[in-house]
Amino acid sequence: MDEKPIDKDIILNELLEFHKLDYDYADGRILGSMCTEAHPFAKEVFCKFLDTNLGDPGLFKGTKQIENEVIKSIGELLSIDEPYGHIVTGGTEANLMAIRAARNHARKYKGIVDGEIIIPASAHFSFKKAADMLNLNIVEAELDDNYKIDVDSVKSLISDKTVAIVAIAGTTELGLIDPIEEISKIAFENNIYFHVDAAFGGFSIPFLRDLGYDLPVFDFSLPGVCSITVDPHKMGLAPIPAGGILFREEEYLEVMAVDSPYLTVKTQSTIVGTRLGASSAATYAVMKYFGKEGYSKLANEMMENTHFLKEGLKELGYDVVCEPELNIVAFNHPDVETNLIAQKLEKLGWKVSVAKCPVAIRIVLMNHIKKNHLKELLEDLKEIY
Ligand SMILES: *Cc1c(COP(=O)(O)O)cnc(C)c1O
Repeated sequence: MDEKPIDKDIILNELLEFHKLDYDYADGRILGSMCTEAHPFAKEVFCKFLDTNLGDPGLFKGTKQIENEVIKSIGELLSIDEPYGHIVTGGTEANLMAIRAARNHARKYKGIVDGEIIIPASAHFSFKKAADMLNLNIVEAELDDNYKIDVDSVKSLISDKTVAIVAIAGTTELGLIDPIEEISKIAFENNIYFHVDAAFGGFSIPFLRDLGYDLPVFDFSLPGVCSITVDPHKMGLAPIPAGGILFREEEYLEVMAVDSPYLTVKTQSTIVGTRLGASSAATYAVMKYFGKEGYSKLANEMMENTHFLKEGLKELGYDVVCEPELNIVAFNHPDVETNLIAQKLEKLGWKVSVAKCPVAIRIVLMNHIKKNHLKELLEDLKEIY
């Protein structure tokens, strides 16, 4: 640290020099991120709530009400009148909370000690962190030929150690939706906690369904679903960090509660102590500002771009891995190694991401990628082989 205070302008210039090294969403070159630039109004509101701390909600009763309202509004999208939950830092923390609730619940009511969680092979890596932190074993369910969780594989993996089953509504690599209704039935019949990870799909599937897209039910209308992760900071256009975890029963929060002496509330169920109220306020703002109409329009535009890219790729002779259900396109070329395509695109200034299962270039059609960027991308892809 410097001995003497430094002038604000100098500090700011220094910081902006660093910031120049960052990629900018607005350039349309970031092709593999599930995040995007937040809506300007959400950013404005975020700044006004920077000092609020939901870790001590008795001091910030108004902001706590905002969080409750946001959870209720997201719940409405997910077919539940009275959800219990929190706005957290992202999908990782939301998934961690869900698995912690499941583990504690199974410990309390079934006496399970060395628990297991059944997750699809396509699950986000956050479940590995959760299992590690919570001392649980991961049991990986196979995928079917369409890269979705194999229902029979899940059935065969259930044991008296199973504390939770996880399925995904909008997989990170391919944007696919697992057969959640079938898994819900199995979980319900076997009295096992069922968590749906809709970190990516939660802010688009409900709107796309309303628009008539043929997408499966994935929410609390299915009786087996105990909790859902939804990330406002992905398709919700809220500023980072904003994840959402919603539970069907308050009891799932209660099994995680620890005493919180010296605070204005007696117990705390979140993983994080001091935590932002700004995320809740900004999410509230952007949800009201967009409304269902705004989000439907956004989701539909992203799907239009998805199909535009998919068709363009096919015309150029690329193989599209699967018919996109959400706004992700994954592809390969029959004659060029995928990593080579990725390298060449990188050289041309694109930031691409390569999926592992199956290996493919993976493009997430977020709001910062416009049609003109896609046309430029297709031009570059034409040159590559
Ligand atoms: C993005 C994502 C996560 C992790 O969310 P973070 O906000 O990065 O913590 C978890 N699950 C799925 C399906 C995701 O797409």
